Amino acid sequence: MFAVIRLRLLIALFIVPALAVLLAFAVFSPAAQANHSWGGYHWARTANPFTLMLGDNVSGPWDATLGITSTDWSKSTVLETTIVPVQAGKKNCRPTVGRVEVCNAAYGNNGWLGIAQIWISGKHITQGTTKVNDTYFNTAKYNTTAWRNLVMCQEVGHTFGLDHQDENFNNPNLGTCMDYTNDPSTNQHPNQHDYDQLATIYSHLDSTTTVGTATQAPAAGQGNLNSRGAWGHKAKESRNGDLELWVRSLGNGNKLFTFVIRA
Ligand SMILES: [Zn+2]
Ligand SMILES: [Zn+2]
Repeated sequence: MFAVIRLRLLIALFIVPALAVLLAFAVFSPAAQANHSWGGYHWARTANPFTLMLGDNVSGPWDATLGITSTDWSKSTVLETTIVPVQAGKKNCRPTVGRVEVCNAAYGNNGWLGIAQIWISGKHITQGTTKVNDTYFNTAKYNTTAWRNLVMCQEVGHTFGLDHQDENFNNPNLGTCMDYTNDPSTNQHPNQHDYDQLATIYSHLDSTTTVGTATQAPAAGQGNLNSRGAWGHKAKESRNGDLELWVRSLGNGNKLFTFVIRA
């Protein structure tokens, strides 16, 4: 009897510290994040897989990049992406309810290579935009297929509710675009861990949907959201400052999040 209790005590004494060490490791590990869901935010939908429209506001080499990104993410078992034309009369990458607008322009020397903006109502994503900045992509450093793929893939990935797997830019690449790096060569596409995370985020179904259809009316204009002045406050920043997350409250539980890759 005492021997059993003593044995249990011994096991408990051993397991608890081991667990504590494991937890500490999980918190401080510079390696991949086991869970890179971003706050549990997701598109509401009543069935899987669901199809999310990517509005094609891009030109030049970005058309090919967007095609690759769409194909890559559509390998997910829970979602499909489809590239659709911009709605008539829309300009300046204005967001459209129920979908993600993808845009490129020379936005100027504003410090960002790419941003993803996601509108939230409660826990649900209602619309998103992805912008890539040609002011930097036209320079020799960033004018490469690898940089274009990394930034497009990551920003579109954020619009599904994914966070980064890793934010340290000078450790070995994890083989995913959700890992920031100073060498994008092997981080141009999602990896299995991203698809697994999407399956987890979208494992439940909702009774409503925030995913739009091709025939819906355009949303009202939202103004110019390209500058930090419109992003609210900085909620998070990677250690070297190359990645930022901003949040702006829009009232009634609605928020605008802006994910930034700095140039
Ligand atoms: Zn839900
Ligand atoms: Zn990012």
